[in-house]
Amino acid sequence: MRKKVYFFSIFDAAWIQWRFLFCERYIMTKQNLLDLNKPDLTAMLAEMGEPAFRAKQVWAWLYRHHAANFDEMTNLSKPLRAKLAARAEIALPSPVAVLTSGDDETVKTLFNLGGTEEIEVVLMRYDKRRTLCISTQAGCAMACPFCATGQMGFRRNLSAGEIVSQVLYYARMLRSTDEKVTNIVFMGMGEPLANYAATWEAVHRLNDPDGFGLGARHMTLSTVGLVPAIRQMSREPEQVGLAVSLHAPNDPLRDELVPVNRRYPLAMLMDAVRDYITITHRRVTFEYALMDGKNDSPRHADELATLLRGLLCHVNLIPLNPTDGSPYGGSPAERVYAFRDRLQAAGIPVTVRIRRGIDIQAGCGQLRAKHRRENSGAPKTAPTE
Ligand code: SAH
Repeated sequence: MRKKVYFFSIFDAAWIQWRFLFCERYIMTKQNLLDLNKPDLTAMLAEMGEPAFRAKQVWAWLYRHHAANFDEMTNLSKPLRAKLAARAEIALPSPVAVLTSGDDETVKTLFNLGGTEEIEVVLMRYDKRRTLCISTQAGCAMACPFCATGQMGFRRNLSAGEIVSQVLYYARMLRSTDEKVTNIVFMGMGEPLANYAATWEAVHRLNDPDGFGLGARHMTLSTVGLVPAIRQMSREPEQVGLAVSLHAPNDPLRDELVPVNRRYPLAMLMDAVRDYITITHRRVTFEYALMDGKNDSPRHADELATLLRGLLCHVNLIPLNPTDGSPYGGSPAERVYAFRDRLQAAGIPVTVRIRRGIDIQAGCGQLRAKHRRENSGAPKTAPTE
């Protein structure tokens, strides 16, 4: 992994100092340390008269030890902790609803972001793996009609701090049972590649050996297929895995199920994916949600096999988890397995993803939708399964 070296000028330092002073004197809001990247944190501590190694210590407290307050930072002097507490805070997200699956293996949390926006985070325990599925946007502009988040529309981008704080919250929780986050998937609410800068800043912090320290190979990002951003991603030094939400093997069907296909049709998308594989030598995952009578016939399986033939890839078949607001249903088990067998016979590596967490509304955006219904006086509908 290439190490990043940050340079910053006297102008940066002056600007950051002005920001801190302004906040302190006039707005009185505390600086959320999770909103600062490493150079900003270094500048803030320098402005407080602290040597450079303090920033490293505070950074490690935040990202390696998942500290939630300054009292935990025991290698800082008490006066410094008090000074920090007076002007800054560590804003971890606050949970508004937590659902745990019957077997305790899947935990889904709905977090409030401080205003009216809510996001979902899912923890999946599988063998020794502790995989966290995190959100990058409140809502989503991609408008996939089968997806609960797509149905709510775009609300706003999350900051890098809001993205990493989801991981820190869970890392802290898992520590109490001697567990660790082993994998992160950017597959929660939102389109990560439509919030590229913040998502990548979050990747840096999560990957940073002086910070959270999770290898980029343990992270996977899922996209509807934003072609320029896939190309940009293939040139990043961090080798984050790529998953593409395909859901259809031809343009007319994909135009309907993943509307951004009209802008980046399959030929363009597959070109970008091929180049990504050539540059990174990484296997790409294609997600394919099987919808009853829509994209699950033997003909669709054959078309998909033709589209993917010869690619270093893997197909994840997911029976659709139906949402209230959409006309699509999940394919029955026999059609799911027939689809898998046909792909396999054509030489395409494929697995059926077990519908874990289905009892806790673990489909994208579904817990939020359920929580809103139940707390708005709107008529309640029966759970989907
Ligand atoms: N915007 C990104 C990541 C978020 S969704 C993307 O589209 O890839 C993560 C995955 O869940 C995507 O493959 C998405 O298509 C899928 N998904 C969304 N709603 C679903 C549902 N109700 N049932 C099954 N899969 C769903």
